[in-house]
Amino acid sequence: MIKITDLDFVYPHGEFRLMVPDFNIGRSEKVAVIGPSGSGKTTLLNLIAGITVPKHGTVEVDEVTVSRLEDRHRRAFRITRIGFVFQDFALLDYLDVLDNILHPYRITRALELSRSVRQRASVLAETMGIADKLKRPVGELSQGEKQRTAICRALLPDPSLILADEATGNLDPDNKSRILDLLFECVDAHRATLLAVTHDHELLARFDRVVDFQGFRGGVVE
Ligand code: ADP
Ligand code: MG
Repeated sequence: MIKITDLDFVYPHGEFRLMVPDFNIGRSEKVAVIGPSGSGKTTLLNLIAGITVPKHGTVEVDEVTVSRLEDRHRRAFRITRIGFVFQDFALLDYLDVLDNILHPYRITRALELSRSVRQRASVLAETMGIADKLKRPVGELSQGEKQRTAICRALLPDPSLILADEATGNLDPDNKSRILDLLFECVDAHRATLLAVTHDHELLARFDRVVDFQGFRGGVVE
């Protein structure tokens, strides 16, 4: 599902460099990424999602070389095929919860906002415990509620790949395990692939594999 080869990435401004000679994740695999703050976990997720592109090397997702796609195709690919739960949520404060969840459907013609999609959005919101907040501007939500909104938005299009950047970081223990259960249920039901950055070491047993950034000196991931 994910295949990275000879990747070399540097930010236009800054010193951080991420090199990934060879990194593969199989279809339907559930992989956790751990490692200290600043080690490049978010950078890796952004490269896989095609939000950024490497200077050298290739990033393939579902047999599409995202790193070689034109900007607009890369964006459409991400919106339709990848569910990304951003570390900072990336919600639109001026929209209410429901409009944030439906947002991917409004920014690409590749997704069609049908009645059944709206119904699924309500079901997801219900499961996430934010059904009573659908008409609230996200600016008025708690961190945990924002996070659950971001997860609903990521899951709604049934993506084949889910990238979750510390998606349970702001949740209390009860919500954390409930939301993780839901994430895993969605992943299993759609045979999706999950790559999740987490600091919760007690959650690692639920993944097939753990990638630890700690051991990668000089930002090299293999
Ligand atoms: P992590 O998610 O593991 O905490 P990041 O991938 O966010 O780490 O960051 C890795 C390194 O890249 C850090 O040193 C960070 O300061 C730097 N960095 C992140 N974003 C940018 C950017 N847009 N421009 C320059 N440097 C950045
Ligand atoms: Mg990060």
